[in-house]
Amino acid sequence: MSQQFGTFTASELYCPKCGRAQPVRERLLLVLHNGELHEFLCSRCATSLGKRTVTGPAVTPAARRPQLRPPRTRRLLR
Ligand SMILES: [Zn+2]
Repeated sequence: MSQQFGTFTASELYCPKCGRAQPVRERLLLVLHNGELHEFLCSRCATSLGKRTVTGPAVTPAARRPQLRPPRTRRLLR
């Protein structure tokens, strides 16, 4: 699968240390059970400017859905 859907990345964020918007670098902070926590760092002074959680089916290996219910058989009445 090469398709990437809606990967929204902030290219610039305001950095209070630099006093202006700076291009940011994204880095993986930690891996959660339901996604990944990324952090945005100022590319100039490496101040943390924000975080975002990435959730998606791409992270978890093939979601297993236990099907406990037996498949319903539908009768056509008409
Ligand atoms: Zn900065």
